Amino acid sequence: MPNDTPAESETTRTTLSNVISCLSDYDPDALPVPDAQTIIRQFIQPINAVEKVAIRSALDRVLAADIVSPINVPSHDNSAMDGYAFRGSDLQKEQDLPLKIVGTAYAGRAYEGSVASGECVRIMTGAVMPLECDTVIPQEFTRDESEQGVTIPAGVVRTGDNRRLKGEDLAIGTPALQKGRILRPADLGLLASLGIGEVPVQRRLRVAFFSTGDELRSIGETLDEGCVYDSNRYTLHGMLTRLGCDIVDMGVIKDDPAALEAAFRTACENADAIITSGGVSVGAADYTKQMMAELGDVTFWKIGMRPGRPMAFGKIQSHGKEAYLFGLPGNPVAVMVTFYFLARQALLHMAGASAVEAPPMLRVVSKAAIRKRPGRTEYQRGILSLNSDGIQEVRITGSQGSGVLRSMSEANCMVVLEHDRAEVKAGDLVNVILFEGLI
Ligand code: AMP
Ligand code: MG
Repeated sequence: MPNDTPAESETTRTTLSNVISCLSDYDPDALPVPDAQTIIRQFIQPINAVEKVAIRSALDRVLAADIVSPINVPSHDNSAMDGYAFRGSDLQKEQDLPLKIVGTAYAGRAYEGSVASGECVRIMTGAVMPLECDTVIPQEFTRDESEQGVTIPAGVVRTGDNRRLKGEDLAIGTPALQKGRILRPADLGLLASLGIGEVPVQRRLRVAFFSTGDELRSIGETLDEGCVYDSNRYTLHGMLTRLGCDIVDMGVIKDDPAALEAAFRTACENADAIITSGGVSVGAADYTKQMMAELGDVTFWKIGMRPGRPMAFGKIQSHGKEAYLFGLPGNPVAVMVTFYFLARQALLHMAGASAVEAPPMLRVVSKAAIRKRPGRTEYQRGILSLNSDGIQEVRITGSQGSGVLRSMSEANCMVVLEHDRAEVKAGDLVNVILFEGLI
């Protein structure tokens, strides 16, 4: 359950003002993105609760303990090819080597006899190497193959070729996977190759979220004049699910103090983190901000970024429980950008993932000029493609307004224009983060 470890609340006594005081030139009304990221990272503490799951269920989960190899993989020296195993010391420079075949080694059924000089064993891929043999010639390189013998032409193999060594994948006692790793398909296979069927993982992070605003309507409701359908809860649903969180969707909450207080309290008592959208900019019916401030240690920022300038961050308390709070702006693109670049890493860190790095950045040519002012980080929605010369280039999607969700939907990447950067000219290099990867 959330808030379940006493040790956790002991270690999270750090206040936001403590964290912020370590930062020189702190200005909540003009906070550069890297500073906001630093404050968030320093304030967040990982949850600490572990469960054991079968390895198939461990996909995308955070490993909660180091895994040390209990065996050698592979357990014996074995052949990497179908061919003939023999003694490398029999090879003579510039001379063909005729060998007598004395037996066959299959994968799972070893050749039990011995192999003398001048002899060889027919061997299959994965079969254990006969004791005296250290070299394999692939079948297709041999000559004069018969039931009794085979010839190894001069110069096609060297001693030790085509042999996989015992423990070469993983030696017994060596670290195979480290605590804090998010398990990927290769890791499930690796665990299986060690004979491990169950692993300890961190319990999933529980994240509650709701949308705020009197103008918001849910699907199925009539869209009165001046109203919009609530889309943020659906993008948040998608982003949080992709991140492996357990989610609590609390719907739309009206700009009403009592309703907001009840929602914040319920979220706080049932989740590790709360994400809201809307109500944190200036000039709104600002009960959201008021309620956040009343219930905890929350700071309100104007971040040097576009989109996504206003944001609230901190921790709130209710009836002895506490939860981290990310009060994202209301505009649909701003929600996604602040989630990906300010909340995502923090949530992963909270979920126990170690070495949570920013996603890989590519540097590619911008097809056209992009308007940009120094003094804020801009996240433009881009389409990366190959040009006619086979070179990657990026162009930005049409309208880049922070309310234009279509720009996110059409894009396949984010063009990240750094804080100090000015105008981009056609042909300049820009940083790009892809939305999709191989895994
Ligand atoms: P706010 O930050 O509350 O001032 O909202 C900024 C803009 O985002 C307004 O145009 C809102 O109508 C819009 N907005 C806020 N929340 C949502 C939502 N959940 N879905 C779609 N648009 C929203
Ligand atoms: Mg609003």
